[in-house]
Formats: sequence, C-alpha cells, structure tokens
Amino acid sequence: MPTDTPINPDVTALPRQPRREDGKINLIGLTREGLRDHLIAAGTPEKQARMRVNQIWQWIYQKGISDFGEMTNLAKPYRALLDENFVIERPEVITKQVSADGTRKYLVRIAGGHEVEIVYIPETDRGTLCVSSQVGCTLTCSFCHTGTQKLVRNLTAGEIVGQIMVARDDLDEWTQPGEGSDARPRLVSNIVLMGMGEPLYNFENVRDAMKIAMDPEGISLSRRRITLSTSGVVPEIARTADEIGCQLAISFHATTDEVRDKLVPINKRWNIAELLEALRTYPKASNSERITFEYVMLKDVNDSDEDARRLIKLIKGIPAKINLIPFNEWPGSPYERSDWERIESFANIIYKAGYASPIRTPRGEDIMAACGQLKSATERARKSRAQIAAETGL
Ligand code: SAH
Ligand code: SF4
Repeated sequence: MPTDTPINPDVTALPRQPRREDGKINLIGLTREGLRDHLIAAGTPEKQARMRVNQIWQWIYQKGISDFGEMTNLAKPYRALLDENFVIERPEVITKQVSADGTRKYLVRIAGGHEVEIVYIPETDRGTLCVSSQVGCTLTCSFCHTGTQKLVRNLTAGEIVGQIMVARDDLDEWTQPGEGSDARPRLVSNIVLMGMGEPLYNFENVRDAMKIAMDPEGISLSRRRITLSTSGVVPEIARTADEIGCQLAISFHATTDEVRDKLVPINKRWNIAELLEALRTYPKASNSERITFEYVMLKDVNDSDEDARRLIKLIKGIPAKINLIPFNEWPGSPYERSDWERIESFANIIYKAGYASPIRTPRGEDIMAACGQLKSATERARKSRAQIAAETGL
C-alpha cells in the first residue's frame, strides 16, 4: 500500500469531549467510563459513581431531561454540583423541513458554527434516522453531493448522539413522568450512519456514540437496528464487528475497478478484491446478519445486465442483500438516474440469483433530504472537482 496516498483525512483533531469555553463538560456522548471519571473528578465519591452514572444516564437518554434540577432522585446539593461542572447540551436546531412524504430534515449547528443535516424517514413498520459522522467528507465520490464539500471536521460522540436526541425531542418520544420506559412506540426505531461523512474515518467517536445508542440504559436500540455504511475503509471493517457490533453496509456501486475508481475513489487505495476479502472474513456476517451492498443506479455507467451478473459473481459466498439506490440528483450533478425499467431488470437478475434486492424509494427529495444530497447550507458554494482533486491528491 503506498504510504503517500493522501486519502486518509487530515482531520482537525479535537479532544474527544472538549470543554466548553466556560469550562463545563457536556455529558451527552460520554461513555459510561468517561462519565464515571468525570463525576469522580468533580467530587462524586468513588463508591457511588457507578450508581450515579446509571441514574444520570436514565434522565438524559430515557427521559430527555437537560436540566439537572429535574433529576429528582438526586439530592439537591449533588444536583448543584453537577450544574457547576456539567451541561447536557444538544446541537442547536436551525431549521426543520418536512417533506410531502413525511420525511423530516433538521439542520443543526454545532460548536465552531458548523452545520450538519439529520434526516428522519417514517415508514409503516419503522422510523429510520439518518445520522452524520463528519462535517463534509474527505472522500470525493463523484455522484455524492457531500463529497463536493470539503471536510471541516469530525463530529464528537456527543454531537453524534445529540443528533438522535434532537430527533427524539422533535418527535416527542421521551418517556414522561409516571410512564414505563416502553409506554411509547419507538418512533426512532432504526439508525443508519448514512448522512454526511465516512464513519470509519471517525471510528472512536462513532463507536462511543453507537455504544450509547445500544446501551439498555442509554437510547436502548438493538445493534440489529443500527447500520453503519462505509465506502470501504478496509482496515477498519473488522474493528466495526469487534468494537461496535452493528450491521454493516458497503457503498459498492461498481463491478469493475475501472468504474469503481471513478465513482468511489477510495477504491484506488483498497480495490474490489481487497474489500471483498475483508467482507469474506467479516466476523459478524451470517444469514441472519447479512451485509448490505449499496448500489447507486447511474444511467449508462453501472446499470447494465452484465454489471448485475458480475456483481453476483463477485459477492458469491458472502451473506448479502443488495440495496439498489436510484441516483438522487443535486445541482450540478454529473450523472442521471437509470430508467425505472433498467433498475427493475437489474433487480430481477439479482433476485433470481437468490438475493434480496430492494429498490430504495427516494424519500424527501423535495427538501433535498435524499441519499447523497446532504450538504450544509453554508457550504453550498461548490468547489470544482479540480479543486477537490488538488486538495485530496485524487
Ligand atoms: N460515507 C458513507 C456513508 C454516507 S453515504 C458511505 O459512503 O457509505 C450513504 C449512501 O448514500 C452511500 O451508499 C452513498 O454511496 C449513497 N449516495 C451518495 N450520494 C448519492 C446520490 N446522489 N444518490 C443516491 N445515493 C447516494
Ligand atoms: Fe463521502 Fe460517502 Fe459521499 Fe463518498 S458517498 S463522498 S464516502 S459521504
């Protein structure tokens, strides 16, 4: 592997949970261990720390409380101590848009004035929240709007969990006083790390955030309801199974290296063969936990019957389902969506080979909330491909 390939992002390193200017620390996003350490440092007796973590987590993640004064099972002086040292702070919601199909898109502001988009997609049997892991993306997939935005920085674990909190606030999903924790239907029932950014280039923060999402005393979602999508950061794939344990989706999108090099340039660093090898040995793949292959349908680029057949050959032996994504256009996008008949023909070949091949219905297109359309409003001034190439060395 060439060591000088500058694909690996030069992301501004932030402390994992930075102090605010007033010296206080945000409790959202701290792992159990992290919270325990901070509570002890603030004067909590060591013997009580574990219990306090449980109590505080329940207030924050099950009841949605952000004021220490409301934590009625804690003594008043202890609440005051918490208030002196900590805050419970979500990203600030700047705008909320609701699509004709019910999809909701929130634009939120995070520290440093950066903006991130979050999308909530209600369906009959579930509600999926599409969460971002970075502001922008260092990768430059040629069909992706986010890829035209220069990476500004990684999100902290608190900012990732905070996105879930913001959606739950808006959907009024918190357990109310007197209610059991399962009294309300889970409106955010699934999480997909498919918003802005490459989650495996922000591994630790994504891992900590998803641990909180999966913890029974945290947001309490099953690991089967969380899907991380990666463009193919091969060295981090096995770690995803070991350290997070959620479901995996791969942005595959092409069946030859020649085409994939153009669509998903990280392919120049780890090509199709290397990616598939990592998936063949993926510890968690099984028939009940298949790997999702995402495949964007681009007219006359990757959508032929021959591509479909090649795809089947490539993934042979990997427990997989294939998610076909009709291309979502964005201003200035260089591709067109494949015709519907083409998509169906492609899907049919895959289906006949024994794979589930759902076609992802575009949601929220009228509010630019569909896959690959996200981009902060402040960053809309597009960079040219040449500029990006110069910056990333691709
Ligand atoms: N960076 C990660 C996750 C974010 S993208 C990744 O690339 O996997 C989530 C999915 O949307 C990816 O499969 C991505 O390839 C796809 N996507 C990006 N732009 C798109 C567009 N314009 N139309 C349809 N799908 C798109
Ligand atoms: Fe980044 Fe994913 Fe978009 Fe590629 S598809 S530019 S990896 S967000």
